[in-house]
Amino acid sequence: MQVDVLDCITRAKHVLCLTMTFAAIPHVTADASLALFLDVDGTLLEIAPTPNAVVVPDSLKELLASLSVRLDGALALVSGRSIVTLDRLFAPLRLAAAGIHGSERREASGCVVRPRVDLVRFAAAREALAAWTSRHPGTLLEDKGSALALHYRLAPNLEDEAHREAQLALERLGGTHELQRGKSVVELRPAGHSKGSAISAFLRDAPFLGRLPVFIGDDVTDEAGFAIVNKLGGMSIRVGPTAATAAAHRLDGVDEVIAWLQEFNSR
Ligand SMILES: [Mg+2]
Repeated sequence: MQVDVLDCITRAKHVLCLTMTFAAIPHVTADASLALFLDVDGTLLEIAPTPNAVVVPDSLKELLASLSVRLDGALALVSGRSIVTLDRLFAPLRLAAAGIHGSERREASGCVVRPRVDLVRFAAAREALAAWTSRHPGTLLEDKGSALALHYRLAPNLEDEAHREAQLALERLGGTHELQRGKSVVELRPAGHSKGSAISAFLRDAPFLGRLPVFIGDDVTDEAGFAIVNKLGGMSIRVGPTAATAAAHRLDGVDEVIAWLQEFNSR
């Protein structure tokens, strides 16, 4: 199986470009040779006007549960959301997961690794950003416990100002965090972590150990994951319109991701 996947990927490099989608992605089977890593918003779920507005359909939970069983648990959500929020959204599922762009990680064993945060500095940054959002309708501060996300999807004219405020808040944190840009969001996340580092960490332990990684994501924060997956000879898939990306393959949108996963699950 592993040889088949590598052969497919090698052949794909000669015939694929990022304007080709679904049908052009090499066929792979959900078996013991692969590990599956999935971003959530914009990949498994359409992006909602606010983070709390998303609903996870039961059909998606059932699909992920089935895939996880077929992969012996080698399936992890790799999201910008916190693990706590992922568990609430996907309940009763409790999958292996990396939250806050790789800053925290729950292994397949259930063990959770979280970054240390200076609570005093973090509170000061949170209060400053909360005060700013209270003065700017359409903006929203999301407190993820060790990261702060400033959303402006409903006030796109405030993008520059939101980024300036985030930069000021970053300075309050004294080097423990870094800025992460996303779709209508700028985030202060713990420094030194990425979705790529999270995927690498998963692959060091069972049931991920020794498998080829497949990673699907839609945003700039997913690029670190694509880079690692490419380096390891796995399959990287970017969701959405053509964009500058390290991913080798592309799917058009959430509907295509779900269809691809269903087909993957049925092989
Ligand atoms: Mg996403």
